[in-house]
Amino acid sequence: MENVIIIGSGCAGLTAALYTARADLAPLVVTGIMPGGLLTTTTTVENFPGFVEGIDGYQLMINMQKQAERFGARLRTLSRVESVDLSQRPFGVTIDGETILTKTLIIATGAGHRHLGIESEHLLENKGVTWCATCDGALPMFRNKPLVVVGGGDSACEEAMYLTRFASTVYLVHRRDELRASKIMADRVLAHPKIQPIWNTEVLEILDVTKDEVTGVRLKNTQTNQESVLDCSGVFIAIGLIPNTHLFKDTLAIDEAGYFILTEGSKTKIPGVFIAGDCADKVYRQAITAAGMGCVAAIDAERFLQEEAHSA
Ligand code: NAP
Repeated sequence: MENVIIIGSGCAGLTAALYTARADLAPLVVTGIMPGGLLTTTTTVENFPGFVEGIDGYQLMINMQKQAERFGARLRTLSRVESVDLSQRPFGVTIDGETILTKTLIIATGAGHRHLGIESEHLLENKGVTWCATCDGALPMFRNKPLVVVGGGDSACEEAMYLTRFASTVYLVHRRDELRASKIMADRVLAHPKIQPIWNTEVLEILDVTKDEVTGVRLKNTQTNQESVLDCSGVFIAIGLIPNTHLFKDTLAIDEAGYFILTEGSKTKIPGVFIAGDCADKVYRQAITAAGMGCVAAIDAERFLQEEAHSA
């Protein structure tokens, strides 16, 4: 029987692992199929306190993992939770066909990339359509070619900046006339000579499914309804995140946007189940806030176990 199972290995999960490990609870972390979470796909993280010159996102997550392991956290790498039985304690967590019992559970499942929801996006996935510039931007197919980034948030700006290393031009296609990104990111992007914003514009279709490769995008101006075609060799979609909460949709409180609803701190309506990170945060969604939530969940779990031990 485990003291605590942590589902997720992003900033929230690994911080919860560090704190529960230091509390001698020997947490078991189920990493999911992307160990380290979304931050591993980013470039330099400039706003995680303590790193004066910034730190590579992948390296930050490796460091967090090693730090948690140093105090006794155990990682079940590349494993995915298939189901969770929260109907009674101990809880049952089924991983790769094996059910493990645990006294407490910390859910830090994070969020995944939002999709445009058009058919051509999926038909051309990995054939020029991608959700990760740092993973795919350096591929030969994108070098010295015009590329499109869709979105207006921090992620879209980061993707656009990164792609300027490879692309001839980066078109930033945004549905409004103002970026949602933080001012520092927005200013950088708008000042970059290789980045050309295309305002008030939606992507109707990614071309060309018949050729099985990306040759352009069919766009619509939302003000004039005028359609146009823009030639490009790659489309990088960065239009926000969808919380990974579906596994719990029948057992825990989830809002209309899919985010977990917490009661107090990291607590849920089920005693012994705690939540941390982007899966419960639709407002801040920063690496540092996720880490902070992981810390809160770990302390809540530790206190819960202590109180239970005292009352036994
Ligand atoms: P976001 O802030 O939610 O922005 C999503 C962008 O995509 C918005 O500009 C939105 O347009 C647009 N969008 C949403 N759905 C769309 C659709 N169906 N079609 C076209 N456009 C669509 O998401 P994010 O940029 O991924 O950032 C997520 C969180 O991570 C944020 O809190 C962000 O601050 C944080 N983050 C921080 C950093 C950093 O600090 N370095 C880096 C990356 C991300 P509207 O603006 O019109 O809504």
